[in-house]
Amino acid sequence: MKFELDMIGARRRKPPKAEQRRILAEQDGCCFYCEQSLDALLVIRRGRLSKNEIHWDHVIPFVFSGANDGFVASCALCNQRKHDKLFDTLEDARNYLRAKDYEDKQREKEKRHVRHLRAAI
Ligand SMILES: [Zn+2]
Repeated sequence: MKFELDMIGARRRKPPKAEQRRILAEQDGCCFYCEQSLDALLVIRRGRLSKNEIHWDHVIPFVFSGANDGFVASCALCNQRKHDKLFDTLEDARNYLRAKDYEDKQREKEKRHVRHLRAAI
């Protein structure tokens, strides 16, 4: 059941700096889900160069727990793709995100193909 956030006055927040450092050390500076390094300042995402940001993700989504704990460091893309979904295991989350990555790449390929066809007309 989802929390009524207005009723409990809960707000999302980032973990404190010391906890951020501890989490990054525990994860060897890598995304909890895709295990890519979070050290890179720039990454290629959907064919575009973009700034790599660390997202502080709640393993149990905030909308379910209303609690600001159980943080992991995630890359922006995994965090956006995971959104507020709840998984039974880390493996389930990784499988879901891998499938999403594949879907996005297929969609990008189709778009490029359509642009190529349009340019040919
Ligand atoms: Zn990731």
